[in-house]
Amino acid sequence: MSAASFGALPESVRALAQADFGDIARRFTDAGFTVGLPARGVLTVKAARPDAARASVLVSVGVHGDETGPIEMVAHVLDALARTPEALAVDLMLCVGNIDAIAAGKRFIDADLNRMFRVQRGDLAGTFEAGRADSLISATRDFFEGSGPARWHLDLHTAIRASRYPKFAIVPELIEPAARGRLIQWLGQAGIEAVIMNPASAGTYSWWTAEQHGAAGSTVELGRIGTLGQNDLSQFLDASNALDGLLRGHAAFDGRMPLVFNTAQSITKLSDAFKMSFGRATENFTPLKKGEVIATDGDTVYTVKHDEELVVFPNPDVRVGLRAGIMVVRAD
Ligand SMILES: [Zn+2]
Repeated sequence: MSAASFGALPESVRALAQADFGDIARRFTDAGFTVGLPARGVLTVKAARPDAARASVLVSVGVHGDETGPIEMVAHVLDALARTPEALAVDLMLCVGNIDAIAAGKRFIDADLNRMFRVQRGDLAGTFEAGRADSLISATRDFFEGSGPARWHLDLHTAIRASRYPKFAIVPELIEPAARGRLIQWLGQAGIEAVIMNPASAGTYSWWTAEQHGAAGSTVELGRIGTLGQNDLSQFLDASNALDGLLRGHAAFDGRMPLVFNTAQSITKLSDAFKMSFGRATENFTPLKKGEVIATDGDTVYTVKHDEELVVFPNPDVRVGLRAGIMVVRAD
């Protein structure tokens, strides 16, 4: 892939892709908000007087630099909101995750940023993204510290591979049930078709905010990956409206709810002998039948244990010790 071209983009999209918050920051400052730039690529907009009844919403985009659709979508939502800044009804932290990878038109510089949100990083510790994660962890802590109990984190992505449910989300099981219910309802409103309840961290940003800060956090896959400025924005219309509603404090709900899946097993690559029965091009939510072999790894054989399990994020090429896929089952 070649370096991203910012030349022909709408100004609001160019600005967000380069984490240039000048115009947005000025509009909210002029409207009386407390605006901060706590780290490169991070903007915070808070009510001038702290208010525990106000929700705190973290929206992150570009954690994977090649997933550009959410950058375009959020740029348009913010551009519209900043024209009537007093309509912002929450404390907002906006985070452009991997600015350097976005500029390079790449997924990451050294390693996947969305595996760095953990205390022990092993051989990933010296990577560019480890340093970036440290900056984000610190800015995120400062944002949520002292904020009220209504805390959200929407980490917006697009998927590399085809999916039986093109719009789906990963939700940490440890989120407190009432907040989790509101999050899943919002996801349904955003057009998300399937939710995977995740019992264990894979080092993702949204797990970190859920675990460390009690946020209703989710990794949200909004559709297919595309080039900055050329994304089909119609696929993001529901998500765009739902985000706009959340930021303006209008909780519209039309009854749409995603299907909920539980994680049946996590497939970890234990050694270089790891072999998966299917490749990384396999569609997400492809069903497998009881007894089918998912992967072998030396003496370890992973097989399907339920009548049917569906595979999500299959990737035999991950580093040893990391997750090579998740098997999920319907929750109801
Ligand atoms: Zn991603």
